[in-house]
This record gives sequence, structure tokens and C-alpha cells, in this order.
Amino acid sequence: MESTLSIDLYNKRPMTIVRGSGALLYDSNGNEYIDCGANYGTSNVGHCNPEVVAAIKSQCEQLIYIPSTYYNDSRAKFMQKLVEITGEPLKKVFLCNSGTEAVEAALKFARGATGRTDIIAMTRGFHGRTLGALSATHNPKYRQSFEPLVPGFAHVSFGNLEALEAKISDNTAAVILEPVLGEGGVILPPQDYLKGVRELCDKHGTVMILDEIQTGFGRTGKMFAYEHYGITPDMICLAKSIAGGLPMGAVVSAEHFCNLPKNAHGSTFGGNPFVCAAGTASIDYIIKHNLAANSGDLGLYFLESLRNLDSPRVREARGLGLMLGLELKTKSAGHLKELMQNGVLALPAGKNVMRFLPPLVITKDQINFVIEKLEQVIKND
Ligand SMILES: *Cc1c(COP(=O)(O)O)cnc(C)c1O
Repeated sequence: MESTLSIDLYNKRPMTIVRGSGALLYDSNGNEYIDCGANYGTSNVGHCNPEVVAAIKSQCEQLIYIPSTYYNDSRAKFMQKLVEITGEPLKKVFLCNSGTEAVEAALKFARGATGRTDIIAMTRGFHGRTLGALSATHNPKYRQSFEPLVPGFAHVSFGNLEALEAKISDNTAAVILEPVLGEGGVILPPQDYLKGVRELCDKHGTVMILDEIQTGFGRTGKMFAYEHYGITPDMICLAKSIAGGLPMGAVVSAEHFCNLPKNAHGSTFGGNPFVCAAGTASIDYIIKHNLAANSGDLGLYFLESLRNLDSPRVREARGLGLMLGLELKTKSAGHLKELMQNGVLALPAGKNVMRFLPPLVITKDQINFVIEKLEQVIKND
């Protein structure tokens, strides 16, 4: 029925998912799947995490919605939690409902704070599909039908400091990038790259915005990916795993970069108490169960296992924490489909890369199962 009702925008998988628990999903025929990315990195604490479920139940009996024009206890608690884990100098929070909205807000804050117009993003970056965020997203596949986009955007190659140095100027409001490219193919930066970006931004008074929407909340083995690289950005965009699977986006910013006039930006549902309660429970769970460190350990194990796959089809396995990519010499779509038929859901990232973003509560046994199935399917023609 959904197929006749919904506007046809998604590459649908031929199944109806009705239930989830931890790293597992179940379809309407009772088949079980290990979720290595059906959630696009949105369930770091696992599907229907019991502590998130309890927080949701309790908050929805208290208050579901109140706009940000009023103070609220649940929202205050969540913001406090968020700035505790982001640390200095990221101390001011704006809440919205999705990743792309967080990017839109960050771009407006940066233009507002600097009075400048230019934004630099990365050629393989992905920041969302609304017109501002889309202007930062480079891939023509997303942009083509919608030009002209917002003026002032330029793109440079990720990992290439000289290219950034040549482009950045005293009219650059912001540089926006993912610390590890997700959609772009699970690509890690050269070790000193982010430090170099930081220095160039400092030199030109440019706001350094990190899009941690996919890399955040323990995904890469640290709470946020920038912690691997010895820098702090001026602003981070968050969403996906921020609230245990409920929709939320956030910008956390250094104080001096986010002073817009009153009502210059806003969101009706942003920061509603219901989602904030889920967000607090989710962050608490990540901290209490050491999910970031767990993601680092299991990620290394997963990566080693991918590297040990004995197949001439594999070009490279790479990743950070439980954000993993397996680049093939051939297209990945057929193998992803076969994996699905064998009880493992994974994602593409470009044409040749299989991407694995399992909940951080995945077990070693489940990883072994994934590897076993993967070995089988990449052997097949
Ligand atoms: C998913 C994603 C977005 C967009 O988030 P939505 O919640 O889908 O709007 C932006 N940036 C990155 C890095 C993402 O992974």
C-alpha cells in the first residue's frame, strides 16, 4: 500500500520492517536481519533501546510539546548534557529536527557572525538536500534539477590543504566539512588535515563547521570524530543518533559565532521536551555503557575481519570505529542485495563501496555472522 501512496523518491527494499531490538530488525514475515546501516547511523544505542523507550514513555505523560519561546526542564537537561560531551568552546545550543536543518542553521549563524558571504565545502561531502545544505553538497546527482542554488558556495577536494589554502580568503564565512566522509565513500582525512583546516580558518577569521551528523555520538570510537585529530571546531552539526532514533538536529557553537538578532532563525518543533528526553536517555546510555570505546574496539575487530576477507574483488577496507567501508573493484549493489537475502542489511556509499554503520551495541558474534555472509556473497558472481 505504501508503494502507491508515497512520492517515489527512495530506492525501496522489497520488505516491510515491523520491529527492532538492539542490532536486529525483523520484517513482516518474521525474518531477522542484522542491521549494519538500515538506520543510516541513527540507532547508535540500538533499536528500541529500553532506557530510551522508558524516557519517552515517562516524558509523554508529562509534556510532549512546548515551543522554545518557553523554558522547559527536559530541554534544559538535554542541552546541559550536550555541552558536557562537546566540551569547550562549544557551549551554545540550537535545536531543530534534522541534520539538514542543523546545517542550514550553522550556515546562517556563520554568515550572520562574520558578515561574510562565502562558504567552502568539500567535493565529496554530503550535508543534506534542502537548498542551503544542498549548496554545500557537491554531488551533481543531488543538485542537477534544482539549480541555481544559493550563491557564494565553492568546493575543494577533501584532504587537500593546498586546495583549501588557495580558495579561502578574508571573505570566507565558513568552511564546512565532515571529519570522515560518510556518503562520499567512508574516507578518512590525512592525519594532520583537520589541524591544517583549523589553522587556515584561524588565519582568516573563518568559522570552522564540522558536520558530525553521521560521525557523532560514539560512531567512530570517540564521542565525536574531531577528538581523533586534536582540534576543536567552532561549530558542530548533529542529528542522526542524537535522540535514540527520534528526529532531532542540533548546532552546538562557540559563543561568539552564534549571535543572530531575535527571530532571525527558529523552529516550531525544535527542542520539544519529548525528543529532548529521548536525547538525554540516549547520551546517558552511551556514556554509561562506554559505547564510544566499544565502537573503537569492535570497529578494529570488524576492520581486521574485512581486511582478512579473501577475495580478489576487494580493493580496500577502511574505517574509523564502527564506520566502515569495503571498497570493491566492481559495483556493490548486487552484493548488498544478496547480503540482505542472507540476513544482513548494509548500505552503499557511491557505486563501489559497501558501508557498515551498525548500532554500537552490536556483538562480536553478530559481527562474525556479518563477515561470514559477506565472504559468501562476494565470492558469488
Ligand atoms: C544524514 C546526513 C545529513 C542530513 O541529515 P538529515 O537528518 O537526513 O537531514 C547531513 N550530513 C551528513 C554528514 C549526514 O550523514
